[in-house]
Amino acid sequence: MKKQFISTLCLSISLLLFTQCEKPSEKNTNTPTTVAGTPQHSPENFAIVIHGGAGTITKSNMTDERRKAYQEKLQEALDTGYAILARGGNSLEAVQKTINIMEDSPLFNAGKGAVLNSLGKNELDASIMDGKTLNTGAVAGVSGIRNPINAARLVMDSTKHVMLGGKGAEDFARLHGLTFEDASYFITEDRMRQLKRAQDKEKGIETHSVSLNDRLDEGKFGTVGAVAIDKNGTIAAGTSTGGMTNKKYGRIGDTPIIGAGTYANNLTCGISCTGTGEYFIRTLAAHEASNLIQYKKLPLKDALDNVIKQIGDLGGSGGMIGLDKEANIAWSFNTEGMYRGFKKSDHTQSIEFYND
Ligand code: ASP
Repeated sequence: MKKQFISTLCLSISLLLFTQCEKPSEKNTNTPTTVAGTPQHSPENFAIVIHGGAGTITKSNMTDERRKAYQEKLQEALDTGYAILARGGNSLEAVQKTINIMEDSPLFNAGKGAVLNSLGKNELDASIMDGKTLNTGAVAGVSGIRNPINAARLVMDSTKHVMLGGKGAEDFARLHGLTFEDASYFITEDRMRQLKRAQDKEKGIETHSVSLNDRLDEGKFGTVGAVAIDKNGTIAAGTSTGGMTNKKYGRIGDTPIIGAGTYANNLTCGISCTGTGEYFIRTLAAHEASNLIQYKKLPLKDALDNVIKQIGDLGGSGGMIGLDKEANIAWSFNTEGMYRGFKKSDHTQSIEFYND
């Protein structure tokens, strides 16, 4: 009897201890407050928003031919990402493949056709982020990698690091079989002319015969970015750039810096930025927008406007696109225009250039 009582007591104590032990560990496996789960997301609610840079984009600076080229490429990029989301693919893949389309086009300042640094070379930056896990990857100051956003994704998926730079990043990409191209693949005549003009200007030499193409690119921004939310409610964001024309070699902008040029968090939003990177770094623009939504409860559009105002007040210019956990889309910019567009599962879509 006594023996039975003791064994029942032991069993109760161990059960009690077990339950006590389980509680904190259960709590630990809960998603931390900064990482979002994916609450109440309707699977039919998916969307993608993109940008192809901000700058001196006005109707008077645009030819019909050029307008058509941008319109078509932006549409192709949107359709690519949208198709991935529509067949149930994830937002990371949609963002990456969408950016690939723009990296492969010389129209934008990313991949082929990226702007040149002060030595006449390409040094490319890119980053990508998963809003569900807050996993992220970035590359900075790389040359030769055809699609830097693929290298950023590789850093995210295949290393314990967040950012690789320069030769280390290139060697890593080569080792993993990413496609490389010669310098001549990336460099276009337009970019060479822009560099010359920027360097002449620096020396006080004014060029009088400025073509329409050159004028259009005066603002120098042509960075590309995409933000998507998939059927599971996961938000992803990515950005890819050549940086700024005539940048000092070795200069790194906001694009590969998580929280500055790119950010995604399922709790709040996904963001991709374009503009004078130094200001987007100083304001931690993308993360600032997320914070304004999370802690100040601002709607997405107000959050973006707030950050762009902060950047403008400091003397910076550019723009940002965003998408929140309800698949609302917004953008904000203080330049004359921004190449941008969105496509949503509710059958709404648009591509816009100017500030009107
Ligand atoms: N933000 C980029 C950078 O500063 C430039 C751009 O958006 O075009 O590197």
